[in-house]
Amino acid sequence: MGDKKKKTAEPDLMQKIVGLCKRRGFVFQSSEIYGGLKSAYDYGPLGVELKRNVMAEWWRSMVHEREDVVGLDASIIMSPKVWQASGHVGGFSDPLVDCKVCKCRFRADKAPQVEVGTEVTFRAGGKTQTGIAERGYVCPECGSPELSEEREFNLLFKTNLGPVDTGDSTVYLRPETAQAMFVNFLNVQSTYRLRPPFGIAQQGKSFRNEITVEHFIFRSCEFEQMEMEYFCPPEEAPKWLDYWKQERFDWYVNLGCKKENLRLRAHEEDELAHYADGCYDVEYKYPWGWDELEGIANRTNYDLKKHQEASGKKLTYFDPVRENPETGKMGVHYLPYVIEPAAGATRTVLMFLLDAYDEEPPSEGRKEGRVVLRLHPRLAPIKVAVLPLVKKDEWLTGKAREIVKAFLKNGVNAFYDEKDAIGRRYARQDEAGTPFCITVDGQTKEDGTVTIRYRDDMRQDRIKLEEAVDIVNKKMRE
Ligand code: ATP
Repeated sequence: MGDKKKKTAEPDLMQKIVGLCKRRGFVFQSSEIYGGLKSAYDYGPLGVELKRNVMAEWWRSMVHEREDVVGLDASIIMSPKVWQASGHVGGFSDPLVDCKVCKCRFRADKAPQVEVGTEVTFRAGGKTQTGIAERGYVCPECGSPELSEEREFNLLFKTNLGPVDTGDSTVYLRPETAQAMFVNFLNVQSTYRLRPPFGIAQQGKSFRNEITVEHFIFRSCEFEQMEMEYFCPPEEAPKWLDYWKQERFDWYVNLGCKKENLRLRAHEEDELAHYADGCYDVEYKYPWGWDELEGIANRTNYDLKKHQEASGKKLTYFDPVRENPETGKMGVHYLPYVIEPAAGATRTVLMFLLDAYDEEPPSEGRKEGRVVLRLHPRLAPIKVAVLPLVKKDEWLTGKAREIVKAFLKNGVNAFYDEKDAIGRRYARQDEAGTPFCITVDGQTKEDGTVTIRYRDDMRQDRIKLEEAVDIVNKKMRE
């Protein structure tokens, strides 16, 4: 692994994001009034909009703007046989280790790596101690090499179907959305008359009993995924892996993620899942270092094959215009290969918040600095805030409310705000990532114009009231 996933201490930026999320209603700790539930999060008014926008953009680019991908919305609870066949019941586990010094429990594959046999320094009982690393990694909390044996821990969430736990009613919450696409492969293919290459896309909740939950919403036990299984003839798989890795990388860039904070990393042989024949991670430069955002893998025909074997149902596709290599005649049944771009929606929300966060110091014309979320207008929770300059002037407040209605009617999420001085209202919107503010003032009464203020450079233009919706809509499409 070397420095592939080098970790550093959690720096300030994460604390700032967590603070902003709570203060402004992006993300709250779950069950907070009861002391909070570890690793569970609730998305507040701004957070739910941001998450929905991320997911809508993904759906738009993966399904609506393409002819070769269709959607699916499957049940979270599936037959336990699905998870036995996929290998999740038997093998979906992480190597778990306890630190003998600080007692923390962690995943061996995510721990800081050190060369076997080297001397390491760590803190124990308030003193600095040394020890020899025998395992190739040390405790992520205290740095100690004194560790328990590795134990396997299954990540599936178990529950039971029906009111009485009879022992054979065990079911699992899905740990990934992908398997529903495999077991529905022929249902979707035949009802929609699809011919490979084609994809099935799904978004939704997944659950993993993660041993280490970390970095706020980066890794939680309940999270949301955006996955697509692209079924193709086996010989085309390398080409489509190449294609999808680039498509997915570009998707983040097109939504404003800074290119220098993103990279594509090919998995090395020893990292590949046993069923995969090639895999790339889209990685982001988080405050703690480069880490996964999305994986794009060639899953071969592994999953279809496993489900075919376990269910006893044929899952092959019949291609009438493909040559049968055995007979030399046209027409062959085969199991397609699958390229899977698998992204986390909640992890992507965190990434966009981190990437968009900016602090501007006070400048010549401005006494106070500002915090601004430079979110892409299509991702911004509120697209436009409409502000009457003076709260006491009923004509201004009435007009501003009218403008809000006009935006809402056009499907643009607008927000009315009359509280506090105009500068403070702008500052609140900058922090929420609102790309446009429209201010209604005395001049509006005279000539029907309003001020539009742009979040990023704080430029202000005078525009005609009737043009406001069109101008904002146009900017959203850029
Ligand atoms: P990691 O190595 O970070 O545990 P993974 O390789 O197990 O992730 P996949 O099984 O490939 O992840 O899942 C696809 C995507 O789902 C990941 O790239 C990530 O964005 C998201 N994801 C997976 N597990 C979690 C989690 N516990 N919390 C939030 N998002 C997750």
